[in-house]
Amino acid sequence: MRHIQHFIDGELTAGTSGRSSDVYNPATGEVQAQVDLASAAEIDQAVASASAAAVGWAESSLTQRTQIMFRFRELLAGRVDELARIISSEHGKVVSDAAGEVARGLENVEFACGIAHHLKGEINEQVSAGIEVYSLRQPLGVVAGITPFNFPVMVPAWMFATAIACGNAFICKPSERDPSASMLIAEWLIEAGLPPGVFSVVNGDKVAVDALIDHEDVAAVSFVGSTPIASYVYNRGTAMGKRVQALGGAKNHMLVLPDADIDMAADAAVSAAYGSAGERCMAISALVVVGSIADELVEAISTRIPGIKVGAGTEPDAEMGPLITGEHCARVAGYVERAQDAGAVAVVDGSQADVPKDGFFYGPTLLDLVTPEMECYRDEIFGPVLSVVRVDTFREAIDLINSNPFGNGTAIFTRDGGAARQFQHEVQVGMVGINVPIPVPVAYHSFGGWKSSLFGDTHMYGPEGVRFYTRAKAVTARWPDPSSSQIDLGFPRNN
Ligand code: NAD
Repeated sequence: MRHIQHFIDGELTAGTSGRSSDVYNPATGEVQAQVDLASAAEIDQAVASASAAAVGWAESSLTQRTQIMFRFRELLAGRVDELARIISSEHGKVVSDAAGEVARGLENVEFACGIAHHLKGEINEQVSAGIEVYSLRQPLGVVAGITPFNFPVMVPAWMFATAIACGNAFICKPSERDPSASMLIAEWLIEAGLPPGVFSVVNGDKVAVDALIDHEDVAAVSFVGSTPIASYVYNRGTAMGKRVQALGGAKNHMLVLPDADIDMAADAAVSAAYGSAGERCMAISALVVVGSIADELVEAISTRIPGIKVGAGTEPDAEMGPLITGEHCARVAGYVERAQDAGAVAVVDGSQADVPKDGFFYGPTLLDLVTPEMECYRDEIFGPVLSVVRVDTFREAIDLINSNPFGNGTAIFTRDGGAARQFQHEVQVGMVGINVPIPVPVAYHSFGGWKSSLFGDTHMYGPEGVRFYTRAKAVTARWPDPSSSQIDLGFPRNN
C-alpha cells in the first residue's frame, strides 16, 4: 500500500504519530494509500523548520524570488497532465476538469511572478521641510494554509504562490482525502530552487489544524473549507491574536429572467450544477426562475442530463466523475429522498441513473418545485443536485438570494442590461456573474464571498492576498544638515 508522508525541511518525512487515514480511489471505492496524520509534535517540527527558513527567505531579493516563481511556473505548466491524473485518482473529478483546476492555479503562480509590482510602497516627498514619509510592506514570517478536498491544487495555489513570493514561509495542511498533489508541488518547488523549509506539507486532521492555529510562531492562517470549520478556525485563530482569512461553504443561485436565452441558460445551468459532480464551492445549486419560462427551462435542462457521461475520471469521454467518499454519496442520496418527501419533484433522480456500480457515483439530479423552507434548498449539499425555485418577480428573486445566509457566488442570465446592473448592485454576494455561471475572478482580482461564506477581512489571492501576507510599515525620514540641529521638546509638527 502506498504511504503518503509529510514534506518538512525540503524532504519527505515519515510521520511519527502512529496515526494514519485511508485515501480512496473514488472511482473504484478502493483504498489506494495511507496518509500519515501529524501530531502536535510534528507540527512543532514543521514550524521550527519553516521559522528558520523564513529568516533567510525574507532577506532574499525580489529578483531571486521572482526567478524561482518563474521556474516553478514552467515546471508546473509542463506537468499539468501528470498532476491532473493524480488529482483525478484521489478526488475523482475527470482529468480534463482537473487540468482546468491546475490551469487556474497556474494563474496564481503567474500573478506571483509579478510580485515586485504588487509590493511597491508609496512615498510622499517633502511632507514637511526636508521630510519624506514612505510605506513598505514586509512578510509576516511563517503562515499556514488549510485546504479542502475539492481543489487539491488550485486552492493551495491561491495561498502559497502569493505567500511565498511576498517572502513568507508557508505550511500547507491539505485535505487528508487527496493529499498527493501538495506533496508533488513541494518537490517541484524545491526543484525550482526554493530553499528547504520555505514550503512544507503536513498531512493531518483536526489535531494538525489545531496545533497550527495554536502555534505562537504561526503568524497567519488561511483556510478554505466548510462553513462550520471556517468559523471555528477564524474564532480560534483570531483569539490567538492571528490574522485569519477563512472561506466557507456556499449556496450559489443562478437567476434566470424571462427574457433570457433558454438554451444558453440551460447549458450554463447543467455545466455549473453538474461539473465536478457539484463538488465546487462555486457550483450552481439553486436555480431561481422568474415567471412563465420555468417549465421550458426545466424541460431544457432535463433533456440535457441523460447526455452527461458519468464515469471514472480517467475515462477519456467521461464528463462527470464520482463523489469523494461513499459516506458523502449516501448523504447526497439522503437529501434527494427527503426533498421528495417534503414535496419537491425529482424531474431527474440521480439514484435511478445508470452509473458505474463500483465507486462513489451518484447521477445528476434535478429537483423542481423546491421552496426556500426545504432542507435541500437551505443546506449546501455539495453534490450533483440542482434545485429549481420558481418565483413571480425579479424583486422576489433578489430578496430570496439576499436572505440566504451564504454569499459566495451568484449569476444572472438575462438580455436586459438594466436588470443585470440592478442585480449586480443590490445582490449581497461576493462574486457575481452576468451571463457567466461560475464567476471565479481571475488571479489579479481577489476571490471571496460574503456572509457565512467568508470569515475575515480580506479576500483570497490577488491584491488582497498580498495585503493579507504582508504587514505595512510607515517610515518618516529626514536627512538634515547637522549644522541646523537644535533641541525642541514640543510635539513634532509639520510645517
Ligand atoms: P472541510 O471543512 O471538511 O475540511 C477543510 C479542511 O479542514 C481540511 O483540511 C480538513 O482536514 C480540515 N478539518 C476538517 N474538520 C476539521 C475540524 N473539526 N477541525 C479542524 N479542521 C478540520 O471541507 P471539505 O469537505 O474538505 O471541502 C468542502 C467544503 O469546502 C464545502 O463546504 C465547500 O463549499 C468549501 N469550499 C469553499 C471554497 C470557497 O472558496 N469559499 C472553496 C472550496 C471549497
